[in-house]
Amino acid sequence: MTFADLGLSDQLLRAVDDSGYPEPTPIQRAAIPSILMGKDLIGIAQTGTGKTAAFVLPMIDILGHGRSRARMPRSLILEPTRELAQQVSENFEKYGKYNKLSMALLIGGVQMGDQVKALEKGVDVLIATPGRLMDLFGRGKILLTGCELLVIDEADRMLDMGFIPDIEEICSKLPKSRQTLLFSATMPPPIQKLAAKFLNDPKRVEVARPATANVNIEQRLVVVRGDKKRDALRDILRHEEFKNAIVFSNRKTTVRELATSLKRSGFSVGQIQGDMDQSDRIAEFDRFKKDEINILVASDVAARGLDVKGVSHVVNFDVPWQPDDYIHRIGRTGRAGMTGIAITLATREDAEAVERIEKLIGHKIPRAGEVAPTAAPAEDAPPAEPEREARKPRPERKPRGERKPAAAKPEPQPEPRDEPVPERSLVVEDLKNEWNGPLPGFLSQSAG
Ligand code: AMP
Repeated sequence: MTFADLGLSDQLLRAVDDSGYPEPTPIQRAAIPSILMGKDLIGIAQTGTGKTAAFVLPMIDILGHGRSRARMPRSLILEPTRELAQQVSENFEKYGKYNKLSMALLIGGVQMGDQVKALEKGVDVLIATPGRLMDLFGRGKILLTGCELLVIDEADRMLDMGFIPDIEEICSKLPKSRQTLLFSATMPPPIQKLAAKFLNDPKRVEVARPATANVNIEQRLVVVRGDKKRDALRDILRHEEFKNAIVFSNRKTTVRELATSLKRSGFSVGQIQGDMDQSDRIAEFDRFKKDEINILVASDVAARGLDVKGVSHVVNFDVPWQPDDYIHRIGRTGRAGMTGIAITLATREDAEAVERIEKLIGHKIPRAGEVAPTAAPAEDAPPAEPEREARKPRPERKPRGERKPAAAKPEPQPEPRDEPVPERSLVVEDLKNEWNGPLPGFLSQSAG
């Protein structure tokens, strides 16, 4: 099947052609014709599957007819994070270059003035994070009664971040006759409820998780003592034949400290985490995209959905607590048909988190390197309790200005997570031993 078979306009086909995509991805094949017919849709797909184009392309054609009116956007796309909102707007620019559509981005962390000005002129597409949208709505700067098309993207992430009540409120302010598209990597019960309440006889489209289906990502797990993680990371960055890497950590403080420590060791490093201003995050991300730096230390929230082609390595400095974060993280590499390597550093305390990830992905992550006999107990390892970022609502309301050093102000504690924090039992047999020496042994080992 080609893009031309999907019923898209000639202008769009030209823009798609310019992007160099040979054929539509499965989510695009399944979703685009239905969306063009005006149907509601539930798309169970995650980043990396081409899902953004699956809704942006038909939207451009649908919105090609009709005109915008002041303060009344014709369509609304809700995104959980500023970065994702930004990327969706870039997609509109890319695919909409032969169409004349107006667009506004409503995200926290940037000046509201320009956003309001754009809205007042009238826009065809409004891309927003729920917090900022509710804020402007409350000030009477925006009317949603002309909004005929709603996209709720990354719905399960919205749930994690506490945005569902906002989304319900937003949905209730839109015309009932609208078209609604909901995308989510998973469908936990609250999202099913949301869909049942606000979608009308939706078509359901499900595509394989890219990480489980993506044979282009070579995964490895390195079992290491907590106090040796930085050495292990440095070794990976020095010895692996890597072009560039995104290094993930569970905590904002670790992101900051790690970026500083790697810089001190002579690496070309940037960071992206939830305490940074939006403009700083974008600047760091751009430096990484332009190869001005080749290591980006990141937290999950800040890095959610980041799309950079040709990331050769993802390193999980910490094992993520949420198994689906693992899939999102490693999905930053092996994109667009390229190969990538994902290395996870795990301590003994991570045994259960690793097990939950393996259950989700359906296979064991190949262990890398030789496992030394049991080393000293890792009392000196960092605490296993997650001081997570952003399982809390409205993460984008961070004030601008100087950031205090970590020691001056403790990180805010996260909201309790939905699922119980597992006991720290050593359930995974081979995590009973941990690697405690120099790394080269595992570097040559292929983990197929
Ligand atoms: P997404 O799932 O929207 O995050 O998209 C992941 C990546 O796939 C982006 O870099 C897109 O530019 C790219 N992409 C989207 N559609 C296609 C396609 N039909 N063929 C190849 N790459 C695509």
